[in-house]
Amino acid sequence: LLITPSKEPSYYHSLFISNSLSNNVSISNHLQILTCRPHIAASEANNEAAAYVFSVFTSSNILSRVTSYDVALTYPLSRSLILTNSPRQPPTVFNLTQEIYDGDPYADVADEVVPTFHAYAMSGTAIGSVVYVNYGRVEDYLKLKEMGINVSRSVVLAKYGKIFRGDIVRNAYDEGAVGVVIYSDKKDYGGGNGKWFPDEKWLPPSGVQVGSVYGGVGDPTTPGWASFSDCERLSKDEVVKKGDVPLIPSLPVSGEDGEKIIRSIGGPVAEDDWQGSKDGPTYRIGPGPGILNLSYMGEQVISTIQNVIGVIEGAEEPDRFVILGNHRDAWTFGAVDPNSGTAALLEVAQRLGKLQKRGWKPRRTIILCNWDAEEYGLIGSTEWVEDNRELLASRAVAYLNVDCAVGGPGFHVSATPQLEELIKRATKKVRDPENSSQSIYDSWTSSGDPPLFGRLGGGGSDYKPFLQHVGIPAADISFGGDVAAYPVYHSLYDDFIWMKKFGDPMFQRHVAAASVWGLVALWLADEEFLPFDYLSYAKELKLNMEELKNQISNKDVTLSPMDKSIKELEKAATKINNQRKEIEASKGWRTWKMDELKVREVNDRLMMAERAFTDRDGLFGMPWYKHLIYGPSKHNDYGSQSFPGIVDALTIAKNVQTTESWHHVQHQVWRVSRVIRHASLVLSGQL
Ligand code: GLU
Ligand code: ZN
Ligand code: ZN
Repeated sequence: LLITPSKEPSYYHSLFISNSLSNNVSISNHLQILTCRPHIAASEANNEAAAYVFSVFTSSNILSRVTSYDVALTYPLSRSLILTNSPRQPPTVFNLTQEIYDGDPYADVADEVVPTFHAYAMSGTAIGSVVYVNYGRVEDYLKLKEMGINVSRSVVLAKYGKIFRGDIVRNAYDEGAVGVVIYSDKKDYGGGNGKWFPDEKWLPPSGVQVGSVYGGVGDPTTPGWASFSDCERLSKDEVVKKGDVPLIPSLPVSGEDGEKIIRSIGGPVAEDDWQGSKDGPTYRIGPGPGILNLSYMGEQVISTIQNVIGVIEGAEEPDRFVILGNHRDAWTFGAVDPNSGTAALLEVAQRLGKLQKRGWKPRRTIILCNWDAEEYGLIGSTEWVEDNRELLASRAVAYLNVDCAVGGPGFHVSATPQLEELIKRATKKVRDPENSSQSIYDSWTSSGDPPLFGRLGGGGSDYKPFLQHVGIPAADISFGGDVAAYPVYHSLYDDFIWMKKFGDPMFQRHVAAASVWGLVALWLADEEFLPFDYLSYAKELKLNMEELKNQISNKDVTLSPMDKSIKELEKAATKINNQRKEIEASKGWRTWKMDELKVREVNDRLMMAERAFTDRDGLFGMPWYKHLIYGPSKHNDYGSQSFPGIVDALTIAKNVQTTESWHHVQHQVWRVSRVIRHASLVLSGQL
């Protein structure tokens, strides 16, 4: 028997990102196969894609299985939208279809695409005068109020682009609207020179952004627990009572249809910021005279979804999990969203397979997850997290998400702060796909500014249950920015041809995404000490506290407990960093056992510190959200809000200005201060 001694981990890490293991052609092939048909959650086509992922994992020597859940998804049964301009003119009946483009190689399967709709939209009919509400944000309605315009009983016309579409519908409902039409304005999605896909990257005039308008997380009928065929479920009424499903109907429409509706609106001219492109009509606010008659009928079906889970067991610490995740389900073909990420995941899997062949074994367990039903509301990942909550809480080191790996050029990352140094280190090792003479880090920081880290907290993708519900350090990386950055997002045109022509013609961005993603995972899995730096966390919290200070003018509220706890965190972070250095320096004279146990003890503290930011009771009024440092923005689920509980209480207090409301602000400050203190105690390891 020949045993090849395995090399140092760093040898394999360099090999992982080397040209000899990178393969842009095979990534392109993966993407082409994954996107050959539309594959919405729970569809036969999506199960076929799951089988493909499973087979690539398995052939890369990754032990894999399909984990199913039975979840409530919705599908459109009928839709209609009719615009009446005046009783003398015939009404406009919109056909609500996206046109197949010239030379579309997928024309023969285009009829498998689900009709344009909003998942979990309310079924019903709404008739009312149209009011143009810009992006449908809270501040847009404030502007309207200043102008003396009330949207109650009207059907509002909102543009896509600034906030989560579910919040567009919710804001409209809060203002008393009876229905919502959301369109992709050509100023934002059309490019402006009258050319679009397949000639240019822009959304064609008939293109529609489909998507979910659900405000919750996971299967709406099983909040907080996993969905199995025979499990407890909320009734329709109970789901409505929870308040996460819309209570007025809505429909997404194209830029072309949106413009027709704009033309039917009179009344005051909208301000410059609210206007569309120069070659279009003047945008007016209304109400009316155009009247919209919107009808939507959907059905809710308990459907079986499939997560594919692959495991490479750790050789030394198999009970420590480094988790990589990406979703597979797509509204249409999903070339950018999400299968650029799936193709990168398969590339990571194959490279890890090759490392294994050459003798590498991870120190800790690496888990590769390919989620289903993300588009409906992060459902596959959330059910899995809810199913495995305690195990994850005691064993997960970090969760690394990639949704749209590539929508264009430019590296973007959002992360919990203790991962910052690690991510910077990885981007210094991987070459910039736009300019191979420099690193991703170089181009990321080329403006001279420090590298920009976004924060997680809101929705948008599958990191949410890991971070928000369990308190697992998390990151989300992509090229080309957030989901709204590429114009064909969630439309019929998010296909392989678009990717090949505009997103990543040479698939080098995919290669780079796989390299950064996998390298971060490898370091987390293999380094003796978990590469977490809690000084970054303390620094970030301090900044957040300063911002908060500026908003609290009330002398009855003090941030001093928070200030104190952040200082404690800083101290504990310094202490654990030093302890780690001491143990490293003492190498050589330590006995093996002492070494292993000491290292393990330090790592346990590093792993568990993020968990301490969670609280059993969770955010006020949102008990599923356990994390008290980061949460979703109140009126935009895509946004991240630091200290969401405090900020929420503050908004109320500023409004009502009662002693009690200010007292509540102080209570929320105390709660946050306590979890920060808990984190510092975990880090320092002292009772
Ligand atoms: N990523 C999906 C979207 O943007 C789902 C987001 C969510 O439900 O939070 O529509
Ligand atoms: Zn996605
Ligand atoms: Zn999406």
